[in-house]
Amino acid sequence: MHIDHIAIPSDHPRAKSLYIREMLVKGFRRGLVVPEGLIAHGRGEAYDYLIGERTTKTAQRAIKAAAAMLLLSSRPVISVNGNTAALCPNTVVELAKVAGASIEVNIFYRTEARERAIKAELELHGAKKVLGVGSKASARIPELQSERRRVDPDGIYAADTVLVPLEDGDRTEALVKMNKTVIAIDLNPLSRTSRAANITIVDNVVRAMPALAEVARKLRGTMSLKKITDNFDNRKHLQESLKIMKGEV
Ligand code: ATP
Ligand code: MG
Repeated sequence: MHIDHIAIPSDHPRAKSLYIREMLVKGFRRGLVVPEGLIAHGRGEAYDYLIGERTTKTAQRAIKAAAAMLLLSSRPVISVNGNTAALCPNTVVELAKVAGASIEVNIFYRTEARERAIKAELELHGAKKVLGVGSKASARIPELQSERRRVDPDGIYAADTVLVPLEDGDRTEALVKMNKTVIAIDLNPLSRTSRAANITIVDNVVRAMPALAEVARKLRGTMSLKKITDNFDNRKHLQESLKIMKGEV
């Protein structure tokens, strides 16, 4: 695998993990990712190591429930931060198309230059419309102090369902309080995000996002969507993920 400045030998035992790291470093150099995002990724890597760097069976069930929920929603929005834009811009766009979802930039460390860089990256991968940039983010999530409170009145503010890959706990809790259905992608089953979301996919965003797009495509037009979401138990999924990490199953 070749990335700008280095070549990772494909037979290196940690090749995939190193490759993902390099995507983030590259994203950092291009102004998509902040240094804090690199640290957040490190925490994610540790949990990924513990689940065996694969999509577990229980995560597959969460992905199916999340895909069904997106298809059932009338105004679904995918919230995109710097790490997500660096790791999987193509599958964000693909999922948005399949699920009829809008895409909105939402970042913790907000600068207009970075918002624009993230928007441009998504457009490069085929996004037609990207919400939440600059003065477009004119609505506010109540009770939230961080810059993540700024949202687009046509996007997250009006959404019934929000997909939040790599989210902060505060905002997840605030979105749930606003009666929105929140789908999180978070490798840490103990985080406030994981516990507050309605559906948490405990998996790496690089695997979960393409899987979500694929499952949504398969489920589109089927009748059993509501049954799938009703049968999903998030608490159970988090417990099962934790058991896998502890080596109990
Ligand atoms: P919370 O705010 O929800 O209580 P936190 O403060 O511990 O969680 P943050 O720094 O807000 O964590 O967000 C980083 C989260 O994103 C971590 O829980 C980490 O496990 C997760 N994460 C990082 N990289 C990835 C990735 N590639 N795929 C999925 N999850 C990831
Ligand atoms: Mg946090």
